[in-house]
Order: sequence, then structure tokens, then C-alpha cells
Amino acid sequence: MKDNLVKLTDSHFIIDMMYARTNNMAGRAVYQEIGYGNVAYMHQDVWKKLLKIVPFLDENKLKMRICDAYRPPIAHQKLLEIIPRTKAKFFAETPEKSNHCHGTAVDVCLTDINGNNLLYPTEIDAYEKRFQEQVITGNFIEFESHLQKARHDYMEALPEAIENREQLKKIMENIGFESISHEWWHYNLKNWQNYPLIEWQNN
Ligand SMILES: [Zn+2]
Repeated sequence: MKDNLVKLTDSHFIIDMMYARTNNMAGRAVYQEIGYGNVAYMHQDVWKKLLKIVPFLDENKLKMRICDAYRPPIAHQKLLEIIPRTKAKFFAETPEKSNHCHGTAVDVCLTDINGNNLLYPTEIDAYEKRFQEQVITGNFIEFESHLQKARHDYMEALPEAIENREQLKKIMENIGFESISHEWWHYNLKNWQNYPLIEWQNN
């Protein structure tokens, strides 16, 4: 184990790191560019909590898709260079301020047993190709209004999408995570304040 980081390999979880592919808000596979790849590491304390969701997944014939977990600070820095910061504050302003860089946050949704995402009010990261094309040129107008749909208090979505969002929140809070108001997919380990930034070096 490296700096208390655990590599997730359990088959209840689908590893689909969004920054290891190009269909994300930055439009670049930053995790590949830095030699990290499509792997999900997280602090061992996060893994101990996340594992508690397995009986629920089994019981309901579901899986969990992991779209981000530990994020190497160098990757965060690259994302900040690609997407300029605006009032949308899409990425934390420094790696220090991102829980992902501390290994204490995950971006997740539930899927059916075949890996098809359940319905939610937006994609994870509120991704849509047209917004990605806009934001990398510095145009945030449409995206910022779209981000309203990523909030836990957004109630205009289809009832099924709201139900799925609330189900995810309930189960994640039950097993030891806290939600944030403006991103339905993002969960922090409780007491994340006690965990330091973790640097990444390729071996
Ligand atoms: Zn996140």
C-alpha cells in the first residue's frame, strides 16, 4: 500500500474514471497523459466505508460506477489549466483544496447489473459534449445554468431521476460519507479535514 491508498478491484464496482477518457468536461484523457490511467485509488478509510455498500448492491442487483476517486495533484493542475476558473468554480482552485487529491472523495452513481447507469438529473460532472466545447473556450453561460440541475435541491427533473439521486444520497450518508449541495455525484469521507494531500509518483 502506498500512502494509505488502496486500489479498487472489487467486481461490484465499475472503474470508469472520467479523466482517463476524453468524454469529460476537459475533453482530454488527463489521467492517461500523466501515466496514471483508468485506475481507482482511494484512502483506505474511504474504501472501508465504501465496502459497506456491497450488501445493498447485491440485494438490489446493482453496481456502482466510479468516475473519480483519488486524483493525483499533477492531474488536478492540468485540469485547471484546461478549464479556466469562473464563478462556476468547477474545479477546486488548488489540489490542496480538492478532496479528490487527498484520496477522500469519490464521484459515483449506481448502475443496473449490466453497468447501465440508473437515471439521474444530469450525467456525472454535468457532462455534455456541447458544454465541454463551450467551456474550454471560456464560454460558461449555458453550462452555469445547466449546473443548477446538478444540485441536490433541483426538483424539476423526472421523478425517477430524483428518486435515484435521493436513494444514492441516503445510502452514502448511511455508510459514512457526506454529500455536497451542488454535485449529486460527489461524496466526501466524513472527517476529510484530517487527511493530508497525497502526491503521486509513478514507480
Ligand atoms: Zn468529485
